[in-house]
Amino acid sequence: MSPALNILRRDIHISGAVQGVGFRPFVYRTASAFGVKGWVRNDSQGVTIRALGSEDLLERFQRALRDRAPEPARIREIRVLAERSVEDEDLSDDFRILDSEMTEDVTASISPDLAICAECLRELMDEKDRRYRYPFINCTACGPRYSILESIPYDRAHTTMRDFQMCEQCAREYEDPADRRYHAQPNACPACGPHVALWSPSGREMAAQHDALILAADGIREGRIVAVKGLGGFHLMADARNEDALKELRRRKGREEKPLALMFPWMALIREACDVNELEARTLAGPEAPIVLLRKRQNSTCGLAGVVAPGNPFLGVMLPYTALHYLLMHELGIPVVATSGNRTDEPLCIDEREALQRLEGIADLFLVHDRPIARPVDDSVVRVAAGRLTILRRARGYAPRPVLLDQAVPEPMLAVGAHQKNAVALALGTEAFISQHVGDLDTAPAFRAFEETVRALSVLYCAEPRIIACDQHPDYASTRFARETDAPVRVIPIQHHHAHIVSCMVDNRLDGRVLGVAWDGTGYGSDGTVWGGEFLLADRRRYERIGHLRTFPLPGGDAAAREPRRAALGLLYELGGPEMLLREDIAPLRDLKPEQSRILRQMLQKEMQTPHTSSVGRLFDAVAALLDVRQDCTYEGQAAMELEHAAWRAPADTPPYAIPFSDGQADWAPMIGRILEDLKLNRDKDVIARSFHEGLARLIVDMARLADEPRVVLSGGCFQNALLLERAVALLTQAGYTPYWHHQVPPNDGGIALGQLAIALNTEH
Ligand code: ZN
Ligand code: ZN
Ligand code: FE
Repeated sequence: MSPALNILRRDIHISGAVQGVGFRPFVYRTASAFGVKGWVRNDSQGVTIRALGSEDLLERFQRALRDRAPEPARIREIRVLAERSVEDEDLSDDFRILDSEMTEDVTASISPDLAICAECLRELMDEKDRRYRYPFINCTACGPRYSILESIPYDRAHTTMRDFQMCEQCAREYEDPADRRYHAQPNACPACGPHVALWSPSGREMAAQHDALILAADGIREGRIVAVKGLGGFHLMADARNEDALKELRRRKGREEKPLALMFPWMALIREACDVNELEARTLAGPEAPIVLLRKRQNSTCGLAGVVAPGNPFLGVMLPYTALHYLLMHELGIPVVATSGNRTDEPLCIDEREALQRLEGIADLFLVHDRPIARPVDDSVVRVAAGRLTILRRARGYAPRPVLLDQAVPEPMLAVGAHQKNAVALALGTEAFISQHVGDLDTAPAFRAFEETVRALSVLYCAEPRIIACDQHPDYASTRFARETDAPVRVIPIQHHHAHIVSCMVDNRLDGRVLGVAWDGTGYGSDGTVWGGEFLLADRRRYERIGHLRTFPLPGGDAAAREPRRAALGLLYELGGPEMLLREDIAPLRDLKPEQSRILRQMLQKEMQTPHTSSVGRLFDAVAALLDVRQDCTYEGQAAMELEHAAWRAPADTPPYAIPFSDGQADWAPMIGRILEDLKLNRDKDVIARSFHEGLARLIVDMARLADEPRVVLSGGCFQNALLLERAVALLTQAGYTPYWHHQVPPNDGGIALGQLAIALNTEH
């Protein structure tokens, strides 16, 4: 090389999710291809690269790093740390991968679990490959991560793979920087890795290895319910076309009507059952491989049983995301129900011995394996709404990927979230690491899972939080946990709906003041009443409640969430007093037993166990009951969901009901009056449901005008409703406002922890 050529030595830092995803081998291969010299190593914030070459070469190298990064990697920023000219004798070395440099401040991203990659799939089906049909094939671009990790740094000794001694061939791949399996911590093969087996309900081994998969598939085909140990826990699987098998599954699991998720063997079959747009297809097949809510196709030829999702225009669908699922599904060639392996309201089962007991009487067969699962990680659920992905349940594939706070926390801070759909979060540096979906905290096992999640997060990130943010609700299990902890911590209670709005602000990287529309089922208001239909002028520090839904009494309080007719009765009582409850032409009153009617009337008149609420979620329930869409729920949110489904069926140009706003209250009374008239006139209920949705979307735009805030943030469980969300987004945009909604964390209470962190961070302490 000519000494005249100007050689630069450039230190480059890349931050983001770049560890445990095959990024260093990718840098190595790219550098080798370009003839760039130097080295790469992991650090606590990402990777650092020292690159030597001409300026032109380095520019092209950097561009390649950005543009060709392996799919699961998420580059946040590529930054040049330092650069200087060097003598060309510095070029004698090749490009090398150096060992990790661990610093005390460990914020390097722990990767989520990744769906099987195309390369591994090819090998899986190649008869000549030594991993032909091996259910635990993986590489640096795919496979288990978070679900096998027990402590950091991320290397094999800290994962549940530690007891599997790599064979010579696997060890060679693991040591070779040019190999796809260089430092692939779960690397394994049939000779040295985990294996599957099929067990009877008593735990007797009926078959091993590939025979176990074949027999499990046979069982499903014959109508049995098979418990399958997968990546982050057990599924219960059954033939999705077999009405009897699914009814039996629902009966045994105690899951009456809640929709069941489906796993399809391949995309073409999904397209036969559902409409799939490009973003949905990419999401299904991406490394996160979540359950995607898709619109059912009319006249589908798939033969799916009606009990999968009764009366629901959407199906929750996923593709196989591990080699084990892939092999099983390809053997079957039919869609199966793949619902989480637990009893209703209990945490997911992760251990095969425990599963024999906990799933006793539910599963007929157990397809198990001997790779331990470090923690339960459910399937994530997403939907495309208003043209973008919204996460409804954040777990496998996403957790514990951090969300950027855009502010640095002075010390580790924990947020324990809400009570329903709980998830917790840990703030370190400028990032919030959000746990997988933990679930509702009503049962003792669920609470133990919550405690374990908090503990594991602290262990994984070596953080002992001194500040804990929690909800203001004194009776949330998470709040009690924060208040009763033995550690010397400062507890900062955060208002529920403020947390919703700030969560959405952080999700969208917003700062400053916004109009927040926080609509959900219930949350503890700062005045001690039950909120849920709130308009807040908010920033990351404080909020002002500038308006809310007109309140109404809710006989039975929380019990009303399961019994929409209670919300309807409260609404009618508020509207017309006791006489209103004697009208027999109104659905929720018509079918009421006299005894029940008397009790509810008394509760309302004497205000016994009857809080007043401004909840939009309960307004949805009340309208669903008035339309006789639903009087009793078998699962949370059912009435509101069914009202949404009714509204989708009505014409798009259905006019809104007016919801006037004055004196700080959005008054539903004129609308309910109109609904009662329209019911009397026998108007189409789908149209009434649609006018209701349109009215609420219109109300949001009216409030934006009134508040005169250009940015409108939509959060809370009500915005899981795709119709409400899309109409609000469309009308706000038309009117010149900029709407924001959720993408990285759920609009429901699963997103609360993120908001709690950001507010606590801005609170004086
Ligand atoms: Zn792979
Ligand atoms: Zn091996
Ligand atoms: Fe909420």
